[in-house]
Amino acid sequence: YYNSNTVLYLNGDFVKSETAQIDLYGQSLHYGFAAFEGIRAYNTHNGTRIFKAKKHYNRLKQSCDLVSIPFPWDIDDLIKQTYKLLEMNNMKDAYIRPLVYSDSNMSLIAPEKANIMICAWDWAAYFGDKQLKCCISSYQRPNPKSTHMEAKISGHYVNSILATTEAKKRGFDEAILLDMNENIAEAPGANIFVEKGGKLFTPPLGHILPGITRATVIQLCKKLDLECVEKELTVADLKAADSAFFCGTAAEIVGLKSVDDTVFPLKWTESIGATIQRTYKCLVLEKQNYEVII
Ligand code: PMP
Repeated sequence: YYNSNTVLYLNGDFVKSETAQIDLYGQSLHYGFAAFEGIRAYNTHNGTRIFKAKKHYNRLKQSCDLVSIPFPWDIDDLIKQTYKLLEMNNMKDAYIRPLVYSDSNMSLIAPEKANIMICAWDWAAYFGDKQLKCCISSYQRPNPKSTHMEAKISGHYVNSILATTEAKKRGFDEAILLDMNENIAEAPGANIFVEKGGKLFTPPLGHILPGITRATVIQLCKKLDLECVEKELTVADLKAADSAFFCGTAAEIVGLKSVDDTVFPLKWTESIGATIQRTYKCLVLEKQNYEVII
């Protein structure tokens, strides 16, 4: 993720990643009490552009607000510093990871002071461009009455790591997690859409992270005159689908080949997902008239 020249942003300064330090006596390390974001920058014909930077930093602030982590920073300034970070590291296509973590504090009370660090690294497509073999996880997403599932909180990713590790051990590429009511929720780090009868369906908000890519897909559907319905989906609904895909900042749009031993019948290239995938790529690269390119 870094070499001896890489710098990161830490509480207002740019420091070498190699020498940056954290306090080992902190709630974030011990209890997973921290908030973070995953953002992507693209090398476009308009230069390096961070996709939906404001939406991501707004979500970071909302995540902090929801769990009472202080967030005293100005979002426009953070965006400015993020562009500077990319420039200093000579990164154009990059994944950006802001993290807000507690000061030295081992109590079970939300901290009065927090730190912000922003790092970035070159990251090719998270899943590549193959279609994924998925399984229904034995792990459910956490109950939204136990935590704020709409917040991107570090501790929630224990659940994600368990699910992905289990899926890989069972020979799959990725997991799909159900919610506490046994409806389809999301992947460990992405939202899910299914296609059935020429329409898209996606689980409603409530048990999932409100993905910025998910919102983008819904917007693209409007623009492309495609019907997209937010609706609870059962495992049977998913297995009876024509096609399905994950979406997320890191994952972008990635097609699913199968779930457990059910293979989706529609060829990926003929699916609505493939159209969304091409359109999304044009959108993030700021290509003109992206609707014409589909
Ligand atoms: N769900 C989870 C659990 C995630 O970690 C992510 C990635 N941030 C997503 C969905 C997709 O969110 P976004 O499109 O905002 O990256």
